[in-house]
Amino acid sequence: MTRTISVLGSTGSIGRQTLEVAEQLGLRAAALTAHNSVERMEEQARRFRPRLAVLTDEAAARDLARRLADTDTKVLGGQEALAEAAALPEADTVVTAVVGVAGLRPTLAAIEAGKRIALANKETLVCAGKLVMDAADRCGAQIVPVDSEHSAIFQCVQGCADRREIKRLILTCSGGPFYGKHSAEVGKMTRADALRHPNWRMGPKITVDCATLMNKGLEVIEAMRLYRLPLDQVDVVIHRQSIVHSLVEFRDGAVLAQLGTPDMRLPIRYAMTWPNRGVNPAEPLDLLTCPPLTFAPPDRETFPCLRLAEEAAEEGGTACAILNGANEAAVELFLAERIGFSRIAELVAAARAAVPVVQDPSLEEILAADRAAREAVAAAYQK
Ligand code: NDP
Ligand code: MG
Repeated sequence: MTRTISVLGSTGSIGRQTLEVAEQLGLRAAALTAHNSVERMEEQARRFRPRLAVLTDEAAARDLARRLADTDTKVLGGQEALAEAAALPEADTVVTAVVGVAGLRPTLAAIEAGKRIALANKETLVCAGKLVMDAADRCGAQIVPVDSEHSAIFQCVQGCADRREIKRLILTCSGGPFYGKHSAEVGKMTRADALRHPNWRMGPKITVDCATLMNKGLEVIEAMRLYRLPLDQVDVVIHRQSIVHSLVEFRDGAVLAQLGTPDMRLPIRYAMTWPNRGVNPAEPLDLLTCPPLTFAPPDRETFPCLRLAEEAAEEGGTACAILNGANEAAVELFLAERIGFSRIAELVAAARAAVPVVQDPSLEEILAADRAAREAVAAAYQK
């Protein structure tokens, strides 16, 4: 069980819920990091008294250093400082709750330092899954997923020593706010519409990914990497209620599922307490009052991002890094209200067509693919 954590992305949705769980479990914090949320970081640093606080924005870090001058917390600025935070010796677990590919290098640094990784930052596995999983094997670093679907699968496969027993993983998907709408209607949806998720409150990037179903596409790739399974063993079903968090079908036909209220503090707590279970102070699931559980196939025509992700997964190499980089850039444009909703998938498809795929890539080739994808999106946007 975890005693001391470092949280990369502590001011975000997952980061804040992680600190809430940490407080309940009586865990200490060694390092906290964020991008530029000075006030929130000051408040967290005063509450958790970490040895190190990092803001990747240099000016914000200077401001934070002035504010925390009366404390024992050391403040560092810049993207490179994330690696130092990730490898701090006193932490046994590093929670990766940074959004986007920015989480890749620090996750690798934490793995190299032999930490347990409570992994929320799915983009890292999407872009560099093989590299990350191989590094974890080599360094003996345990990766415990925080993403609710992958935590569900992780819980279902506890005690399954031979992964060949797994026939198929079934990821559940809420369908997002535009479920059931026609393509023409979906195309008119605004930033505000996309940010209204029916079941979860999350950071803006993942909330948009849920609306396009790119999130489920990224999660298919995340599951393939975590369990080293091919695409045809990872399925997606729409489950509007977000109560069944995912399922595993074994080769004898048994299907195991994990159920719970839609509350990220549950998978976060499990990642902290694994292989044990902590006590959940929140509302328990009541089967007699919860809505009927329904399942349906996803609509890959109206939501092409899921298909684009599956195609990238099939192609392998840097295809997923290109997909992810293009999606990050396109979602940024959508959040800035510079493109409409349907343009996200179009720009991702344009970048995938424009950037060549490299097989068996190095870290540098993966990061180059990410950059090329962002440039391809910028070029397609300006056309
Ligand atoms: P948020 O946007 O709420 O938080 C992101 C965090 O990362 C903030 O602390 C932010 O700091 C920091 N950050 C942003 N950009 C950078 C950067 N370039 N370098 C370093 N730090 C940065 O995101 P979420 O908490 O929603 O998501 C975090 C990760 O967890 C994502 O990968 C997401 O897919 C995954 N996830 C999230 C779930 C959820 O319920 N939210 C569920 C499952 C997975 P600042 O505040 O200063 O901007
Ligand atoms: Mg998820």
